Amino acid sequence: MESFEKFLASVNDDIEKIFDNQKEYIHCKAGCSFCCERGDYPISELEFKYMMLAYDELDKNIQEIIKNNIKEVKNGNTDSYKCPFLIKNNCSIYTHRPFVCRTFGVLTEDAKGNPSFPFCATMNKNYSEIYDEEKQHLSASLVEQKGFKTFPKIFRLSNKVIMNIPLAKQLNIEFGECKKMIDFLELE
Ligand code: SF4
Repeated sequence: MESFEKFLASVNDDIEKIFDNQKEYIHCKAGCSFCCERGDYPISELEFKYMMLAYDELDKNIQEIIKNNIKEVKNGNTDSYKCPFLIKNNCSIYTHRPFVCRTFGVLTEDAKGNPSFPFCATMNKNYSEIYDEEKQHLSASLVEQKGFKTFPKIFRLSNKVIMNIPLAKQLNIEFGECKKMIDFLELE
């Protein structure tokens, strides 16, 4: 895991710079967990193993809560679900959370190269000032009207992009299979 932690530290630094670059538009606050309440959270096998290191260190009672949450998600059988590791609006494995969670809340590019807004843009949160709800798109005129200093940048932050950062190759990191988080979580 040493190489992965080195890689993760570098990715984290880059993501922090991105958030800093976009700070005019970001309203993320401690205790806000909307991003963890609905999603499919795609992750790699390696990220899953890293998450489990944090899970193994948790108090047994917390582990039980997580196991019950997993059961509920499995029974619900939906593509979009509340993350089982979210407890009282906090991530129980925060330091070991996967890449996708680290990019929550920032304007990214979808598979077709179009801007993909965090869903909280419609909830008076990130980028809401410049999100045209009618057109469901970024409004350049709102950026100007509202006097923002920087035009929002659209970042390529998919797992595929992150896993292909040259440092991953330099460190010989094998990410393994990628799938939805819930599909890695087996019930004992
Ligand atoms: S792993 Fe943590 S940060 Fe990621 S979705 Fe779950 S609760 Fe949220």
